[in-house]
Order: sequence, then structure tokens, then C-alpha cells
Amino acid sequence: MTFADMRPCPSPGCPPPEEASAGAVLTIDLGAVRANYRLLKARLGGGACAGVVKADGYGLGAAPIAEALQREGCDTFFVALAEEGIALRQVLGEAPSIFILNGVPPGAEAACAAAGLTPVLNSAEQVAAWRQTARRLERRLKAALQVDSGMARLGMTAGEVERLAADRHGLDGIDVVLVMSHLACADEPGHPANKAQLLEFRRLSAMLPAAPASLANSSGIFLGADWQFDLARPGAALYGINPTPDAENPMRPVVRLDARVIQTREVGAGAGVGYGHAYRAAASLRTATISLGYADGWQRHNAAAAFVDGRRLPFVGRVSMDSIVLDISAVPAGRLKAGDLVELIGPSQSVDQVAVGGGTIGYEVLTGLGSRFFRRYVDQ
Ligand SMILES: *Cc1c(COP(=O)(O)O)cnc(C)c1O
Repeated sequence: MTFADMRPCPSPGCPPPEEASAGAVLTIDLGAVRANYRLLKARLGGGACAGVVKADGYGLGAAPIAEALQREGCDTFFVALAEEGIALRQVLGEAPSIFILNGVPPGAEAACAAAGLTPVLNSAEQVAAWRQTARRLERRLKAALQVDSGMARLGMTAGEVERLAADRHGLDGIDVVLVMSHLACADEPGHPANKAQLLEFRRLSAMLPAAPASLANSSGIFLGADWQFDLARPGAALYGINPTPDAENPMRPVVRLDARVIQTREVGAGAGVGYGHAYRAAASLRTATISLGYADGWQRHNAAAAFVDGRRLPFVGRVSMDSIVLDISAVPAGRLKAGDLVELIGPSQSVDQVAVGGGTIGYEVLTGLGSRFFRRYVDQ
């Protein structure tokens, strides 16, 4: 499989754009992903490090990202859905462990077992269904057990854990290869929930069969050694999102987004620009209209700026579906013409900064990136 095969197609019969004709170019630096993996691994002091590649690798392409991580020695991957796991298995081959965070939907157990996927069992119901699948298939099946240490989202409650621990046949046919939980407030190091979840995770996992333990996501790794256990599960930090929002970002940026100028113009004083004439020129200005809009995942209310040569080019008027108008008065006349690229995400504006402008988090910016971009993978 080549990267070209893995570029998503916006709709059946519509090939992904070529670089020259694309309205915008998304550059994904696999070398930076690999460097980020090494950096996280180095913080773990001997613990193992998985790669979380759910939601198509946070929108950046699960296949090329997972292959890059595999080259760094990563042999454990997490996705959210069984479908994602089946696709990933084809890319990575037999050897790596692939965990399904959401567990197996009722009825999909046999397909999941056939693909060699390891479900994260989140409830007594999921445990029972997996146990029955093992019996039906007459073989032992691997699973991770997730306990709810205080997020109340996924995982067995304390009561379910106690009942499972008391049931001699509760895990018949199941090899527990991981006991895990997830932190609700790991990006706030001072939050009391972090310590509370750590203690509850220790208490609950002690009731279950001895198995490697996993608690930390990206931010959890930075809470310290107590939270790291045997296996860490970073996603965001691999993709360059800051896992320590209160401090400087220790990760390397992975994503660059450049949009193409469609046309430039002089806008006279008093003219209205864009839908609703939401902007009215107080004085004349030069503008450029770029080929990127809310259909590409740039939120309509995120009135940020683009950059060229490090100069800020503010948006004027509303974000349209396929275009945005920029005030380019800050750069010399003639610097920008049709076909040129301007930076939306890159050295001048990080994913996290774009997220702040949109009132969201970097995770949502990345997973929202649209399917019309030309995707360029580099590995430096
Ligand atoms: C998404 C997810 C992760 C990865 O979290 P990041 O904050 O992106 O590092 C780890 N564990 C679970 C259970 C998740 O759902």
C-alpha cells in the first residue's frame, strides 16, 4: 500500500486533488511524529509506549502514522472502533497488538477475534459477551479490562470489578493482557482528580488478574512516574499538540496547512466584504481570497489570520464554505498573487493557537481537517 492509496476520497468517484490543483496543502511530518514518540518514550524510564491512532490518526492518516511508529519500535496501537482496527491490521501485519478502546459492539465479536484485535472490555456486559465468544470459538481470547477510576465515561464500575473478582468463572477463556483506566483531568497537573484516580486505579486493578497496567494518555505521562505504569497511551502529543498546556510545548510540530490564493483585489473605502457585509472597509485595502473554508474544517466563527513571510494577514468578513478573504496590506504589493500559498497552520500559528481562536482544543482542529486537501507526507 502506498500513501497515495490511503488519501481519503471526498466522495465516491471523486479522486483526491493533485498538489498543483488543490485548494490547500496539508503537510504531515512523519519524522516529527517519530521524534515525538522517542521523546515520550524517553520520559517513561523503561515503560512501554503505545501509539493511539484512532479517528484516522487524529485526522492525519492512521496508516502512514502507524507505519512510522512501527519503524520506531512501537508494537502496541489503540483505535476506537473495530472497523479502524481491521483496517490497521492490514497495514501493520500480524505482529503488533491492536486494542479497540470502545470494545466490541454486540454481534461483531467473531470478526474482531478473526482480525486478531484485542478489545478493551468496558463493562460486565462486554466481559460476558467476550467470554461467550471464547467458548463458542473454543479458544482463549485476549482482552484488556478497563476500570472506571473516576471519569464515569467508559470502564467497569467499582461494583462491577468487585463482582467480577468474586466470580471464579467470570474470566473463563479470557487472557487479560492489560488492565487500564483513563484520566479525566491529566492536562491540569494540579487537579485533585489526578491523585484520586491514581489511588482508585491501584485499588481496582489489585482485585483483577495480574497484568500490565496502563493509565496515562499524553498529558498523563507528564504528571510523573506514578502515573506511567507499564504502558503509556499517547495520542495528541505524537501529533504535536501540547500535552502541558500551562507550559511551553515540548513536542515537535507535525502539521502544516497552506491555502492557495485564488485572487487578489483592491477594496475601496466603504465597501462591504463577504457574506452579510460583516466587514466594511474603513479605508481602502488590498485583499487576497484563499481557497479554504468551513467545509475544510476551518470553523466559521474562527476569525484568525493567515501568515506569509511571518507577517500576519487578518481575515476580513465571514469565513465562507470554500473561501476566506485576507487583508494583505501588511505585505508589499505584488508579494501575493493567484496560486501562491499562505500559512494557516505552521511555524507562525500552531494547532493549539488555531484551537484557541475557535474556542476548542487541538484535538478537534486536527480531527476536523477536511478531505479536500492535498496531503503531503514528509519524513525528515
Ligand atoms: C484518546 C485516548 C487516549 C489518547 O489520549 P491523548 O490525550 O490524545 O494522548 C488514551 N486513552 C484513551 C482511553 C483514549 O480514549
